[in-house]
Amino acid sequence: MLSGPSPNVTRELTESPDEALYKLFLEPGQTELPAKRVTERFRAAGILSDDPRAKEIFERLEAEKHAGSSLSLGGFIELFALNPSLFRRVAEDSLAIPDWDELCRSIGKIFHETAKVTEGKVAAYIPELARVPASKFGLSVCSVDGQRMRFGDAKDLFSIQSISKTVSYCLASEELGAESVHTHIGREPSGDSFNAITLDSRQRPHNPMINAGAIVSCSLIKSGQSASERFAHVFDTWRRLTAGGDVSFNNTVFLSERDSADRNFALAYFLRENAAFPKNTGISATLDFYFQCCSVEMTCDSMAIAAATLANGGVNPLTNERVFSIDTVKNCLSLMHSCGMYDFSGEFAFLIGVPAKSGVGGGIMVVVPEVLGCCVWSPPLDEHGNSVRGIEFCKSLMSKYSFHNFDIVSGAEGEKTDPTRRKVSVGNARIVDLCWAAAKGDTKEIQRLVASGAKINGADYDGRTALHIAASEGQAASVQYILQNGGNRDAKDRWGNTPLDDAKRSGNRGVVEFFENIQG
Ligand code: GLU
Repeated sequence: MLSGPSPNVTRELTESPDEALYKLFLEPGQTELPAKRVTERFRAAGILSDDPRAKEIFERLEAEKHAGSSLSLGGFIELFALNPSLFRRVAEDSLAIPDWDELCRSIGKIFHETAKVTEGKVAAYIPELARVPASKFGLSVCSVDGQRMRFGDAKDLFSIQSISKTVSYCLASEELGAESVHTHIGREPSGDSFNAITLDSRQRPHNPMINAGAIVSCSLIKSGQSASERFAHVFDTWRRLTAGGDVSFNNTVFLSERDSADRNFALAYFLRENAAFPKNTGISATLDFYFQCCSVEMTCDSMAIAAATLANGGVNPLTNERVFSIDTVKNCLSLMHSCGMYDFSGEFAFLIGVPAKSGVGGGIMVVVPEVLGCCVWSPPLDEHGNSVRGIEFCKSLMSKYSFHNFDIVSGAEGEKTDPTRRKVSVGNARIVDLCWAAAKGDTKEIQRLVASGAKINGADYDGRTALHIAASEGQAASVQYILQNGGNRDAKDRWGNTPLDDAKRSGNRGVVEFFENIQG
């Protein structure tokens, strides 16, 4: 029998929201909150101590930890006030990936498996790149809520090379508008290698993700400004994309590339011959700018934040700053999807199914829109110029998680995991759908839901199954279908009632008889 609320419930109803949140951080049985427990919860949620949103929170927690003290409710409230929304989302596990810890464990396994792959050759056509140890292997992931993880050499700087083409294209588009940019550069995969001397039927480079297109993008960026201003603009953009993370410039790589750039010079003259550049474009200034963009260095950590900014529609998840407009990001991701992986772009779109861009330095920037960005770096390359381990990692990641663009068509039948889903919510949503279909007597819908994985005897919070509901509502055809397909006639709801009890109570004789006939 349901009586009035117990004294316990009354106390909980009158506790303040801050107290309720304080309790969410406590372990079962704990009454006081150790500072270290809050730190652990933040880390487990993927919020790292160098996160600009949480820096002060971590500093204060560190001081409390050294004082060996527990956090009083007052101290907790002060801490909470530093970033209430982040605090709340950590406490409620409601960041983009609710179980970040689990994702870390599983991606960590994939990373260590991938480390066993030893094929590929480090790029040597830019002599300076050949000096990077083949054994380097790093990986970082950043969600659209700024949850981060890293493995291996994720804090080593590497040469971003062709990954720079993404930002050059975005900057040209932001400045001139996509339409104007695409009067100079096409949007079609070339089907040729990244440095091929070829143009489309309108005398434009095929797309901005190959050398010819990227050289033209560079010619468009701040064309009236000095070389230093133009490079500062690109550099500053990478810094904003990475929340001030590690971004630097490697002059040795720049000089080495410039000294061995016959192909890119040939390309630039070919572009000029075909009037592919805007008027008054200087060849050596444009090429220098292009080589400088390729000679930017970043870490997997910083590149993953840039990738997450693209995944987040152009807003950096750590600073909340909008770096690129939604349209620019959408266009860039479309081109990464169709042209970002050299002559393997079609295969990559087919097998992996997300936008990505690789560079001959061995880095790959991968974007899972609205979920996360990641960067994997391992210098040995395959015959297409893509990192061998990078591709292997992507394949394994996509075989486990439903990140492929078209995984959506497998719906509930898919065997892959969607890490953005709260574990309980998936099943619950289906039970609710099933109960609604049963209430309406929509047997076709019940059939469809069951075929796509809904549990026919799944019960709601009150222990009510679809059979209880169909029986209560007198939906004979649905009752019949459920009973014939494994529905449990003895299921008891929280009040101890079976579906037959419900049928009797609703006074629907037809359904009662139906139950009895089937039982008999
Ligand atoms: N700077 C390199 C070049 O133009 C980029 C190569 C790449 O990463 O695809 O040759």
